[in-house]
Amino acid sequence: MNTADLRKKVALSIEGMKEHAAEILVDLIRFPSVCGEEMGAVNYLKGKLVSSGFCPNIIPMDTSIKNHPEYTYYTNEPTWENRGNLVTDYGGNGDGKSLILNAHLDVVPAEEWKDGFAPKRDGDVITGRGACDDKGGVVSGYLALRALKDCGIITSGRLSLHNVIDEETGGNGTLSLLHGGYTADAAIVGECTDNVICPANRGALWFQLTTKGVSTHMGEIDNGVSAIETAQHAINILKEYEKYMIENFMDHPYFNDLEHRPIQLCIGMIKSGEWPSMVPDTCMVEGGMGFLPNKDIDDVKIEMRQWILDKGDDWLKNNFSIEYNKLHNAAYEIPPDHPFVETIRTSAPFAGISDHITGWPVSCDARLFPRVADMPVICVGPGKLKHAHSRIEQVLISEILKTAKLYAFTAMDWCGIEKD
Ligand SMILES: [Zn+2]
Repeated sequence: MNTADLRKKVALSIEGMKEHAAEILVDLIRFPSVCGEEMGAVNYLKGKLVSSGFCPNIIPMDTSIKNHPEYTYYTNEPTWENRGNLVTDYGGNGDGKSLILNAHLDVVPAEEWKDGFAPKRDGDVITGRGACDDKGGVVSGYLALRALKDCGIITSGRLSLHNVIDEETGGNGTLSLLHGGYTADAAIVGECTDNVICPANRGALWFQLTTKGVSTHMGEIDNGVSAIETAQHAINILKEYEKYMIENFMDHPYFNDLEHRPIQLCIGMIKSGEWPSMVPDTCMVEGGMGFLPNKDIDDVKIEMRQWILDKGDDWLKNNFSIEYNKLHNAAYEIPPDHPFVETIRTSAPFAGISDHITGWPVSCDARLFPRVADMPVICVGPGKLKHAHSRIEQVLISEILKTAKLYAFTAMDWCGIEKD
């Protein structure tokens, strides 16, 4: 069979699994797989893969990543006992290039969305927490692997499904696998890019700023120093830094056609004070900074601190600290002429997907592949970002099928096909 006929066969196989795909997605959404609670979903998917004839393995979390520079600290650290990522390998007996299809099984909570884990189907639309972020992408990877196997197509290079945990909290699941040597010649991360091919992600850095003051009674206000007002001064400087970043680092070929500006500094949380008539002596501010691949994350860290030192008044300069102990996701880009970008773009039209490439204006596990394993990586998956983390989280089954075709065709081309 020639490649065109093989593609047709695979496409038909994927379309034939439409109801199966919907069923698996609905089942997966029923598992409230928030950080620390993912193993129900992991074991369910493992069961589906086993009954399809694959040999999936749960790889325990590698505790040595706690010393890795890409490790993300948790607000509430979950136990790592009996938790792990699901790895399913297929093909790989030939000398073709290897490929990882990565998608995460953990989800953000649905506390104020009481039906979040009670999925609903309305024709082509499935609604529920995790529908597009990222269980739709998980199902696409599963379908791609199933279709290839069912069609008797064995990839010459190894094709691996990596269904990871701990993505929403910063990426320790994927980090654990990459650090443990579960790498390949390229990876696709199945995030909800609305099936737009994204060989670049913006970066995101969370900061924790603390300012100190001198506490006094309001009646002696001139003897005190307000930590809140000191923090306000620091925030104004950080907003000036945001302006500088927008003016100087917004021009990037992957990020010029976006609807929203991808560089932003957000003040998300402020904690301070004990009493209305007391000058507060400590103020804690937490926020996030988004930036593009033309800026190194370590430079952003240094510059934010330096701007406060350079522009702050004497009190602020000597009475603040800024830490970056939580989410710290570097930006990344894979050049448009990279062979992997060319491969996926060539496959896209056969899957009904545009070969247009752009940057993704959020951050996900993708940046870990180039940072930790020097691998090319592309984000593309079903569902829209505007639905992720929302109370109307949803995905179209037809889009999941398109993504599955893209994954399968890309794998056939990139990994090669074993000849018998
Ligand atoms: Zn996600």
